[in-house]
Amino acid sequence: MAKILDSNHSLTLSFNPLWKSLARYLASKCEKCGKERLLSVFDFYSSSQRFFCESCLLASTALMPLIRLIFFSLGVDNTTIKQLTKDSLIRKCMLSVVKGITNFGIRYPQPTGAPITIV
Ligand SMILES: [Zn+2]
Repeated sequence: MAKILDSNHSLTLSFNPLWKSLARYLASKCEKCGKERLLSVFDFYSSSQRFFCESCLLASTALMPLIRLIFFSLGVDNTTIKQLTKDSLIRKCMLSVVKGITNFGIRYPQPTGAPITIV
């Protein structure tokens, strides 16, 4: 019988409700400036924007360590993260993945909010 989930995946899946609520938060738009929070976090990370509304600034500051942790666990270094978070296509793909998590939770393979090819 094939082993479907490795220990790492089942650990992630056991935190699914947590990831889902986090994803919902990131994919939702800021009530003050109307920008998706994930994109504000990316702007914050890549320093491509200097000024944020209070709400986005707070969210970005709080989520920075988590975003860094996720990228580091994927083996991406800090310089690359900054480049990736500036790339508009990568940003759209990431937002789409986050929307997918909001709708479906974390799955393997991960369904996205919209097919990658049309984002
Ligand atoms: Zn905002």
